[in-house]
Order: sequence, then C-alpha cells, then structure tokens
Amino acid sequence: MPDTVPTFTLNNGVEIPALGLGVFQTPPDETRAAVSAALDVGYRHIDTAAAYGNEGQVGEALRDSGVARDDVFLETKIWISDYGYDETLHGFEKAARKLGVDQIDLLILHQALPSDFEKTLGAYRALEKLSADARVRAIGVSNFMVDHLTALLDTVDVVPAVNQIEVHPYFAQRAVQDFGAGHGILTQAWAPIGGITFYRDSGHTSTLDDPVIGQIAAGHQKSPAQVMLRWHLQQGRQVIPKSVRPERITENFAVFDFELTDAELTAIDGLETGKRGGPEPADITLAAWGRAIPED
Ligand code: NDP
Repeated sequence: MPDTVPTFTLNNGVEIPALGLGVFQTPPDETRAAVSAALDVGYRHIDTAAAYGNEGQVGEALRDSGVARDDVFLETKIWISDYGYDETLHGFEKAARKLGVDQIDLLILHQALPSDFEKTLGAYRALEKLSADARVRAIGVSNFMVDHLTALLDTVDVVPAVNQIEVHPYFAQRAVQDFGAGHGILTQAWAPIGGITFYRDSGHTSTLDDPVIGQIAAGHQKSPAQVMLRWHLQQGRQVIPKSVRPERITENFAVFDFELTDAELTAIDGLETGKRGGPEPADITLAAWGRAIPED
C-alpha cells in the first residue's frame, strides 16, 4: 500500500490523486461510513455530485476523519437544473455549504445539455468565474462527447481539466478519450470496474465475471476489479470506483503494487462491446432529467 496515492497533473498544474472513491448510488446514511473507510485506507479523493444527494455526508466524514482539509481532493458536479450563469454560481454556493468547505478542488458540469447548449455555456462561464476567484481549484465537464467538447472549446477561455465519462472494458469511448488527450483534458473513468449497476438488469455479462479479465487476475493473484483499475491507470485515466463495503474499498485501493503487460492491456482493450451502460448524453433534457437540487 503506498503512503501517498500517485497523482495526475491537471492542465492548470493542480494535482489530482490517480484513484478516488465515487459515491454515486451510495445512500446518504451509508456515505459517511464509506468515505471514512476510504480515508482510513489512504484515499485522498472523493467524487460526489449535487445530484447524488450525499454532499453533506461527504463533508461530515471529512470533518470527522482528522485528515486535513488540504490533504483531500473534493470533486463535485453541478446538475443541469442549476445551469445558466447565475444559477451555477448559486449551485456552487449550495455545494460548498453542504460540503462545509470554502473552496472545492474540482467542480464539473455533470452533463452537456444539447437541447439548451447556451445554458450549458452559461454554466461553464460561471465555473470559469469561480476558478478566477479561487473558489474552485480546477473546472471540468462530464459526459461531454466530441461534438459537445468542440462547441465548448470554440467559445470558452479555460480548457476543461477533466472530462468524466463512462469507461470500462466493455465501453471505452476511445474517440472521446483521444480528443481529450489531444486538448490536455484528463479522462476520468466512471463505472471503472464495469458499471455493473447499469448492467445488472440488461442481461449483459458483468465485466467482473468476464473470463478474459478473470484469467489475467488469476495470473497476478489479484481480483478482476483490481485488474480493471490497473488497466485504466496504465492507460492514463483517473479512476473513481464506488463501494460501500470496507473490504472492497480496501481492495480497490491495492492496485499500486503490480503491473499489467502490454499483451494483457491489449486483451482487455479487445473486450469492447460498443454498448453504453449509462444514458445517451445526446438525449439529456431538462424535461426528462431536470429535477431540482435542494438548498440544504
Ligand atoms: P463502478 O464501476 O465503480 O462499480 C460499482 C459497483 O461495483 C457497485 O455495485 C459496487 O457494489 C461494486 N463493487 C465495488 N468494488 C467491487 C469489487 N472490488 N468487487 C466486486 N464488486 C465491486 O460503477 P459506478 O457506477 O458506481 O461508478 C463509479 C463512480 O463514478 C460513481 O460512484 C460516481 O462517483 C461516478 N459516476 C459518474 C457518473 C457521471 O455521470 N459523471 C455516472 C456514474 C458514475 P458495493 O458498493 O456493494 O461494493
């Protein structure tokens, strides 16, 4: 286990731990324990979102942990119902209040809103303002496809530091990753160990049960989850696996003591299905997805 987590350097020089804890679908009453367990093991990055309804519990766990605020990288996301310049500035205040912090390390837009891209741009300009005022240390986006990134870069001043997208062995979105790499945008992989939360009801095999990944894992005396996390890290992606179970939180962090071979990386690349687990980013609308984020 490393004393400190390796880091990636964002395009503005800020360092982000290479691996953090995700808390999507972590119920609020389980969030404190999960975040505490992660901080105890050595995680120093938590990825939450206004839409997850658990920013308050993330903040509580951080304050209770005894770990210095400056030693933990806090990332959260503005939901689409708070898009628009003034709305997003207010969205930041809500998030900071719930997290109990003055400054957020990385604030990102949760989705592009293709049907109202002007609102998306307004929201991003608010992120730029928050960055200029040092209320956030870095800004970015999530679920932006190449067309969304192109339209954004045509208009804004600050290149997003990250694009957080679905990436796992069954769906790697190489074109989006490559576009990001070409513009200094770090890919953060969500559902990094396979998004089984999405696959569960789809009849698709989980990556966790995939025979190719299982064989590679056996060869390294590691678990399938650990092999997938290594695949991401060795290909330059930041990862945010989610678990509420302390033993899995520990397992998912124990990935810095082995190395996959080029042949193993290629074999995992070959598992691509082209099948997205999450919602189609082009289809996100306020009407379907725009539920309000509470003030407290
Ligand atoms: P993950 O790939 O992290 O998979 C999480 C699932 O795997 C949970 O069901 C968890 O169950 C289980 N699990 C965790 N560790 C192990 C293990 N070692 N062995 C077996 N099973 C395991 O998917 P998520 O969808 O949770 O994505 C991770 C994070 O990415 C989210 O928490 C969130 O922060 C972010 N995200 C962002 C999105 C976006 O739109 N920007 C969308 C989705 C996710 P259990 O908890 O019971 O251990």
